[in-house]
Amino acid sequence: MPNNAPSGTLFAIKRYALHDGPDLRVTVFLKGCPLSCAWCHNPEGLDMEPAVLTVPGRCAGCGECLAACPQGALSAPSGAVLRDPAACTACGTCAEVCPALAHEAVGGRWTVAEVMAEIQKELPFFEGTQGGVTFSGGEPLAQPQFLESLLQACGRLGLHRAVDTSGFAAAETITRIAPLTDLFLFDLKHTDPAAHRLATGVDNAPILANLRLLAESGAEIRLRLPLIPGFNDDENNIRRTGLLAASLPGIRSVDVLPYHATARGKYAKLDRPYPGEHIPASSPEDVDRAVEILKNCGLNVRIGG
Ligand code: SF4
Ligand code: SF4
Repeated sequence: MPNNAPSGTLFAIKRYALHDGPDLRVTVFLKGCPLSCAWCHNPEGLDMEPAVLTVPGRCAGCGECLAACPQGALSAPSGAVLRDPAACTACGTCAEVCPALAHEAVGGRWTVAEVMAEIQKELPFFEGTQGGVTFSGGEPLAQPQFLESLLQACGRLGLHRAVDTSGFAAAETITRIAPLTDLFLFDLKHTDPAAHRLATGVDNAPILANLRLLAESGAEIRLRLPLIPGFNDDENNIRRTGLLAASLPGIRSVDVLPYHATARGKYAKLDRPYPGEHIPASSPEDVDRAVEILKNCGLNVRIGG
């Protein structure tokens, strides 16, 4: 019998999250993102499909995975195990059998019921608080039906629901998701279209239109400015961001998110070059300057998520 349960791809479920919305949260990370920001701190969430990676140097040479792989996708011509990406179906068998934990599954397919079973384990921690569930990524709006089903299921449990988004989605998706969401954590990376396209690979026009659509619909929004040195931390962009936020109904606060190269290790594990190598960390002076400019626009400003 076919399994028609709503399902999608996740790459993590994080418990006891403190910075993804009010009070204690469970943060569910959906895989897949249409943007390609050099400073992305969740590169394992970029691709929509689950993957399995092999960590260099961990193999103990037992040969278990070579025998277990149903696709014959692994070989060890000179000792180190090699994966043929064209043959690998990311089934995860090699990760299950490897005694040295040399293979790691990055994401997997989950049904709504499976995700909700994980969330329900945390229900006692939410009692009497505004705590709840935050959907992040990747870009959670890139799996709109899965996200909608998850939000509906959380709503049936009376949980506070937050969506952490770049805002890059079809307007129809925003319209469907907004009534199911108590708080949007909305990243605005740059107000200038050319700069935005150059650094993220996508136009900011739909993002700005969706921000306005959400604000005018009465949604609660925390605008977030990832402060990226040399990209969006100039006075002009920060002021334009502040003036835009202050002009929209319902947005009175902005989070400034200083940049640090904390994701470098994740890229190495994924065997990808770190595209943020050239970006220096945000200095305390630059963060203070951004906060001051935004406050002068009449906004409440917080540093960090
Ligand atoms: S994930 Fe599955 S198909 Fe891919 S190498 Fe491992 S066992 Fe083979
Ligand atoms: S199962 Fe693990 S330790 Fe054994 S050969 Fe495969 S990668 Fe190496």
